[in-house]
Amino acid sequence: MVQPRVAARSAPVEVIRVLILGGTAEARAVARQLVGDGYHVTTSLAGRVSSPALPEGHVRIGGFGGIGGLMAYLVRERVAVLVDATHPFASTMTQHALEAATMTGIPLLRLARPGWTNHALADKWHWVDDHNAARVTAESLGTLPFLTTGRQTLGHYAQWTNLKVLIRVVEPPSSDLPRRWQVILDRGPYTLDGELALLARHTVDVVVTKNSGGTYTEAKLLAAQRLGIPVVVVRRPPTPAGLTCVESAKAARQWINHVAGG
Ligand code: NAP
Repeated sequence: MVQPRVAARSAPVEVIRVLILGGTAEARAVARQLVGDGYHVTTSLAGRVSSPALPEGHVRIGGFGGIGGLMAYLVRERVAVLVDATHPFASTMTQHALEAATMTGIPLLRLARPGWTNHALADKWHWVDDHNAARVTAESLGTLPFLTTGRQTLGHYAQWTNLKVLIRVVEPPSSDLPRRWQVILDRGPYTLDGELALLARHTVDVVVTKNSGGTYTEAKLLAAQRLGIPVVVVRRPPTPAGLTCVESAKAARQWINHVAGG
């Protein structure tokens, strides 16, 4: 059993403070478990989504102001363990977490769900390294793309002014889109039946996605396969060297309990 407390000889016992860099279902899962274990848990959200799903424990919202700001926060808030549970494509935050943890000496764990590279359908998809390659590949495969790569990536596809593009995003895009683009505001999880109906209704002929992994957004991949629609998948950014990584909230909890208990 874990004892998530630090007891200095004559100082009062203090509950161990964990900062989770969140914005994902995995971050919420690990927050729930750590709150249950008795840690003082704060989840940090970037503030991109107007009504985010809130985790258990404390929540802070907004950027830290770069690596220096994150270091100052970690020290000021007496954070003992840092968990980077941001989305696999949030590579700037992951790099900042690594640098801030290294400089402050605070243990850091990277929690990222497994990608789809081992998915049963993976060898049927068109894998590309970045969004520009995804655009070029999708253009060669179809003329009615379903773009599900996220609001912040839309600029990479802005050349598609003449295409009827279906995009699905959580928040409304911040800038004007080409006239023929159609926006669906929605967030997962999605069902296979729903995705089959959506792809058929909009006569989509190519799907573009990131290698987000997990099950929340997987149904579109299964639906595309059923309908014979090609899929373009953007590979994840590389994981920086020196990170301790786990793929589940359960593994993260074990690691944190080990670090806190040690
Ligand atoms: P990013 O490009 O890696 O980060 C850009 C900046 O946003 C960071 O330097 C940091 O600002 C701030 N930031 C990012 N995550 C933060 C967090 N959890 N708490 C406080 N500040 C944060 O990140 P992103 O790709 O825009 O993702 C932003 C958030 O959305 C993340 O929390 C991520 O988990 C979530 N999300 C991202 C995606 C995606 O596809 N990228 C998908 C689903 C959810 P400062 O430098 O000022 O500290």
